[in-house]
Amino acid sequence: MAFRRKFRPRKKVCRFCQDNELNLDYKNIELLQDFVTARGKIIARRITGTCAKHQRQLTREIKRARQMALLYYTTTHSTEVKKKTI
Ligand SMILES: [Zn+2]
Repeated sequence: MAFRRKFRPRKKVCRFCQDNELNLDYKNIELLQDFVTARGKIIARRITGTCAKHQRQLTREIKRARQMALLYYTTTHSTEVKKKTI
């Protein structure tokens, strides 16, 4: 009978609290993408383990990044689509 080591529930630590060098900024796309799904949705805090304070900052930066069109941002401009199809 194999003795399977029980996986320890790893303590979720906020990445930004853990690493002060981590630059939470809308220009830091590579970092932001870790907290965003492929479709551009922000990943829930309970999954990433980010603390409330940093999640709020993160959300703000992601939104800013979207405005800068640096992140995937799926918007369907119905009027534009209509124009194109006609
Ligand atoms: Zn934090």
